[in-house]
Amino acid sequence: MAIHAHIGVLAFPVVSHAAPLLTLVRQLAAASSSDIIFSFFNTEKSNCAIFSGQEFDNIKAYDVWDGTPEGEAFSGSHFEAMQLFVDATPGNFEKAMKEAESESGLKISCLLTDAFLWFACDMAEERRVPWVAFWAASPSSLSAHMCTDQIWSMMRSIGAAEREEKTLSFLPGMSSVRFSDLPGEILPENSESPLAIMIYKMVQKLPKSTAVVINSFEEIYTLIKNDLKSKFQNFLDIQLSILSEDPSIVSGDSDQECLSWLEKQRHASVVYISFGTVAEAQPEELAALAEVLETGEFPFLWSMRDNAKKLLPEGFLNRTSKFGMIVSWAPQLKVLENPSVGVHMTHGGWNSVLESISCEVPMICKPFLADQRLNSRMVELVWKIGVRIEGGVITKNGTIEALHYIMSNETGKAIRENLNKLKQKAENAVKLDGSSTKNFKALLELLKSSRGV
Ligand code: UDP
Repeated sequence: MAIHAHIGVLAFPVVSHAAPLLTLVRQLAAASSSDIIFSFFNTEKSNCAIFSGQEFDNIKAYDVWDGTPEGEAFSGSHFEAMQLFVDATPGNFEKAMKEAESESGLKISCLLTDAFLWFACDMAEERRVPWVAFWAASPSSLSAHMCTDQIWSMMRSIGAAEREEKTLSFLPGMSSVRFSDLPGEILPENSESPLAIMIYKMVQKLPKSTAVVINSFEEIYTLIKNDLKSKFQNFLDIQLSILSEDPSIVSGDSDQECLSWLEKQRHASVVYISFGTVAEAQPEELAALAEVLETGEFPFLWSMRDNAKKLLPEGFLNRTSKFGMIVSWAPQLKVLENPSVGVHMTHGGWNSVLESISCEVPMICKPFLADQRLNSRMVELVWKIGVRIEGGVITKNGTIEALHYIMSNETGKAIRENLNKLKQKAENAVKLDGSSTKNFKALLELLKSSRGV
């Protein structure tokens, strides 16, 4: 079959951004019967993490420069790495795109990019091709970012103290959300940060995109969805974690042993803890959580990066080895699917929230950054499928209270019922005539109709 379209996929090299984008591309490639090829541009490190050595039909990975000066080994923080990468854009992408065009003999006919990469709007205009932007975080955070100017003008009229309790009642679907729940990048005091600058530029460019795609299902947030639909030419939500045949959004080198350990635990007894790929809890918070788990002898599975283990109380691992397990990277979806998991203690990252919904596991949210405070508030007050830890900080009492709330028959039951209803909506969205399926087909048609030269 003749190849019609060459899609240039530009990723933002953070695992929880690049991995769902690859999941989407894999699904599109599988559904497109070889008339589309995808060139996937991402840094070498991020490509290694998300492809894990696998190859997929009609998808070719290209490594772009991550911005580290030649000959130097990078040893800085996550945010420094992000900044180096941003400084290297768009030149690093342009270079790799030329290589892909010359190798395939086909000009790129459409750009499908992480929404953060706002300059793709100008690239697409120059090339006269469509720009499809993928927003990797939650719909509510996109909605809030799109209203940055309005939020700023409201903020001028309220004092700093009022932010804690004042709600965003002027934003559709967010009347339970407080100013203090907004992503830090929206706040005027952070507006000079590189991430805030990048997102604000994105806000200005996104309405020009041919379509905005988001990993979600529209039945979960009708009011916000209607608002977003009114702001973009096309707004398509596609449920990735359920739609995927291979459900792991992020594969990574996960510890499979923990799955056999879970098999031996009692039904709904295990506390699964993970704060995602970026967030780091304070040492005193880790100590408080460790103490609660140890003294209450709560069975637990804790996904913790190696560098955080040294912050645990001395001897904790030995003393809790009979009822707990720590892994550096868990196969999260498989863990959540296991009936022994009773509660998901999470940072409230969007992928984690969706995964918890699709596995019907109640959440205790401890938000750190980005959209996590917003998501946690939605989990607790709008969908009522979990609780946000008291004061947003892990303390001994707050954690015990949250665990009892979820584990108690009465409150826990209501949460599980709400989860079950949401899960059903998510499943309906991916049925043959479901909203997600329709949006997926619309996206596929859009990509197919872009013509390579
Ligand atoms: N994840 C995983 N194993 C872990 C920790 C995280 O598979 O031990 C995955 C998780 O399933 C989710 C992603 O990493 O798909 C984290 O994305 P999320 O949006 O929740 O948070 P972020 O990392 O962006 O803060």
